Amino acid sequence: MSLDLDTSTDGVLTADTHLVQSFADLNALKQDGARTVIVGAEGAYVTDSEGNQLIDGIGGLWCVNAGHRRREIIDAITEQLETLDFYSTFYNFTHPAAAGLAAKLAELAPGHLNKVHFGNSGSVANDSAIRILHHYYNRLGQPKKKQVLSRQGAYHGSTYLAIAMTTPEYSEGWDKAEGLIHHLKKPHHWREGEGMSEAEFLDALIADAKGRIEAIGAENIACFIAEPIMGAGGIIVPPKGYHAAMGALCRDYEIKYISDEVVTAFGRLGHFFASKDVFDVQPDIITTAKGLTSGYQPLSATIMSDEIYEVISGESGSFLHGMTYSGHPAAAAAGLANIALMERDQIPQTVRTTGKLFEGKLRDLADMDMVGEVRGSHFMMGIEFVRDKAAKTPFEVEDMIGLKVAQAAQKRGLIARPLGNILILSPTLVMDEAMIDTTAGILCESIAEVQNSL
Ligand code: PMP
Repeated sequence: MSLDLDTSTDGVLTADTHLVQSFADLNALKQDGARTVIVGAEGAYVTDSEGNQLIDGIGGLWCVNAGHRRREIIDAITEQLETLDFYSTFYNFTHPAAAGLAAKLAELAPGHLNKVHFGNSGSVANDSAIRILHHYYNRLGQPKKKQVLSRQGAYHGSTYLAIAMTTPEYSEGWDKAEGLIHHLKKPHHWREGEGMSEAEFLDALIADAKGRIEAIGAENIACFIAEPIMGAGGIIVPPKGYHAAMGALCRDYEIKYISDEVVTAFGRLGHFFASKDVFDVQPDIITTAKGLTSGYQPLSATIMSDEIYEVISGESGSFLHGMTYSGHPAAAAAGLANIALMERDQIPQTVRTTGKLFEGKLRDLADMDMVGEVRGSHFMMGIEFVRDKAAKTPFEVEDMIGLKVAQAAQKRGLIARPLGNILILSPTLVMDEAMIDTTAGILCESIAEVQNSL
């Protein structure tokens, strides 16, 4: 059946008056109606309804790791739907795709992370991690051990619990789960570590975390949750040794360590998972989504240790948790094909070269007057703009500086994501050297244009 969709700009915008956009200024959208209508995609590019081809500098939404419209993934999804369109993984049912993907993730995940529960978004994966750990402690007879340590600057999703773990700026004017979450300091040396070396800043962060744990009482704390590199909080790479030190602290106090690898997994930092391979920490749970299917299907995974699984699968009581689409066949097939393609084409290994090149080209922009800091790693980068470079004075919100640079870039053929004074780049992982050069060139021109207009 052909859907016969109207793909003209006017046609889409008329229908779009019924769509509630996510994380958008709905009033501004209502007033000026401005939208970019994306109608097609190929490899590292997307096409808008005006016929412009744009470099997808945000990889859909940090997720199209393998690139757009990969035949291998599309065929695997189609084949799966033709064989088994849907069955759940509830009760005693299972199916080859969900079981196969769980086994594959157990093989790829570090250490004894061998048990996988599927969801359909990063938010749900994180909610699931907390629910599972709370249940785990109930079963262990430690019902008070429920508090969660998160961090200022974190982003863990927008369900009621995930948004509570997220940095408070993301829920201004909104309610969230109360009484469970404690935000530790943001591990951002450049902004928060004035007058300290990176090593001193690290010591201060760990000492602060220790103080907070002792004040709350480790007997009341279930877990610490952290992104290896903070994403939507502004691409914050912690000081060297931070995750290993937090991991050790968690072990000392018997607090579980959850690594939120919704963004950092599946090649973005040059490895299938970054926690152990890049940051030298062995989590008790890894949550992931996005690059797991390269965005072709909504799928997330909460990957837990054998030890956690042994407790929750012990005698008495069932596992009262799951979503209808947990392990959806088409999504699981997309995950399996995506991983097979990444292994065949050695995408994570390639990123160790191309991602480093991308990082280097962006770091070259640090000399520009308006650029305060270029930070990140491989294909996960952020550029923070400042009014005064020496004093690191931020622009005012009303300056909408990130948005202005993003608009200047889009005019030149690159989609980048503004976040206040920061511009975020998280492209597909199939960018070659020429595309990387073009991207860096566009960014340089766009920043210069905005700089000159000030
Ligand atoms: N964790 C991290 C680190 C994320 O970046 C995101 C989304 N950007 C989420 C969780 C939430 O994922 P989702 O939007 O799929 O719910």
